[in-house]
Amino acid sequence: MLRIGFQPAFRCLARHYSTAIKDIDVAIVGAGPAGLSLAASLACHPATEHLKLMVVDGADLSQLDKWAPTSFDNRVVSLTPNTRQHLIDIGAWTHIDSLRVQDYNEMRVWDGQSNARLNFDSDDVDQDAIAYMIELKNLQRGILNRVREFPSVQIFDNSKLESIKPSRNGWPGDEWPIIHIPGHAFRARLLVGADGANSPVRHYAGIESTGWDYGMGLVASLRLEYDDLSAIAWQRFLPTGPLAMLPMPDGHASLVWSTTAANANLLKSVSDEAFIALVNAGFRLEPVDLAYLFSLTDSDQIVDEVSWRLSTVCDGLVDGTDVPLPVVHVEHKSRAGFPLKLRHADRYSAPRIALVGDAAHTTHPLAGQGLNMGQGDVQSLATVLQKAAELGQDIGSQLVLDQYWGDRYIVNNALLGVIDKLEKLYSVSAWPVVAARSWGLEILNEITPLKRFLMKQASK
Ligand SMILES: Cc1cc2nc3c(=O)[nH]c(=O)nc-3n(C[C@H](O)[C@H](O)[C@H](O)COP(=O)(O)OP(=O)(O)OC[C@H]3O[C@@H](n4cnc5c(N)ncnc54)[C@H](O)[C@@H]3O)c2cc1C
Repeated sequence: MLRIGFQPAFRCLARHYSTAIKDIDVAIVGAGPAGLSLAASLACHPATEHLKLMVVDGADLSQLDKWAPTSFDNRVVSLTPNTRQHLIDIGAWTHIDSLRVQDYNEMRVWDGQSNARLNFDSDDVDQDAIAYMIELKNLQRGILNRVREFPSVQIFDNSKLESIKPSRNGWPGDEWPIIHIPGHAFRARLLVGADGANSPVRHYAGIESTGWDYGMGLVASLRLEYDDLSAIAWQRFLPTGPLAMLPMPDGHASLVWSTTAANANLLKSVSDEAFIALVNAGFRLEPVDLAYLFSLTDSDQIVDEVSWRLSTVCDGLVDGTDVPLPVVHVEHKSRAGFPLKLRHADRYSAPRIALVGDAAHTTHPLAGQGLNMGQGDVQSLATVLQKAAELGQDIGSQLVLDQYWGDRYIVNNALLGVIDKLEKLYSVSAWPVVAARSWGLEILNEITPLKRFLMKQASK
């Protein structure tokens, strides 16, 4: 009886204490784009290639190897030229399926209330492209395959973090974090949180994160009436949030409709026909019409209402070149909603801890910068660690890690602030504000050097 009663508890304790704790130089929690590209950046550089690295993720990464979709995935991001160059530099870009990537050279942005417009062209900044649209899975799989080329990197997937505890062996005030994953325990000289917005590493380090919520981002994979070879990115600012249609190869497009939770729910629940009608209406009808359409719940009624309204608008007011091509198809089950949040960690470093990517900051997708900011973090942290390694410094010391925090915090904070102000400015419907912002937009559209400056900043 005694044995039976105590056996489970004993087994549990035995498992816990029999796991030998191994030392590792850099433990990266999170095999998203930020965590994987940090691993590749460190493994491929002569100053850090000797470091023992590990990447841990709770997800099953073999799913990425099996991924062979017939159409395009709904989670798509735009990469800036700088991010793409970084991926080339660390040898990851060659692992990406380039047939599934779409670059674009033009971007058309307009105010849904006044129709004031701002057009960007990559020729203005002598760049090959403004940005590159890529599915997250294609990106993640590409970087993962690059990381797999390095024997110095151990990858543990299906390995949700069980706990992080300070090591009792360290000097007082210099306790190395021990991470427990199923069947293993590692004591890390440096623990990197690349573990997304709810970062367990950030919680362990006691780093606060502040911000607020924006509503929902409704994404979907679309097919257009025909393959528009000009591949333009479109974004219309509506009072409920921006509506963006980004080009994908072969007449496909990716939708990000940032809106209220109620509107997002309607967009998810209506029939495919009603959804397509609402998307086409979103780029063409007045906000007052859209508000009425979103008050309806019956899919057939939405289709009818959009149909007769568009028949009056398209023939007269809207020039066909000023709106995206009509959407004719939405991929099955591709509609999904994501909560949109601004969050910024107070610090990106603590003793033996660094945060990168969404673990450090999340932003509204209107400028397509979230992942790109994370790649900027990775470049900066890798550079700081490489310099420290060259000088023989301890790569986990606060002195070293604070250089990274100092380098990135101000840049990210400024960008998060600008994106937040844009989101707020365009959600105001009062006419004096609409008039002032439209005037500003049209002036900006005429001043090429200023536009060039903005584009250069956004592509960093
Ligand atoms: C609708 C929408 C559109 C967007 N569009 C763009 C865009 O156009 N351009 C752009 O730059 N950005 C965009 N973003 C932002 C971008 O998607 C994110 O910034 C980026 O994917 C974050 O990457 P990451 O590697 O930092 O984190 P994640 O991709 O979140 O990776 C975190 C990883 O950590 C793992 N993990 C978490 N907890 C644990 C744990 N306890 N144990 C083990 N593993 C764990 C997770 O499994 C995950 O794999 C968009 C976001 C949204 C919502």
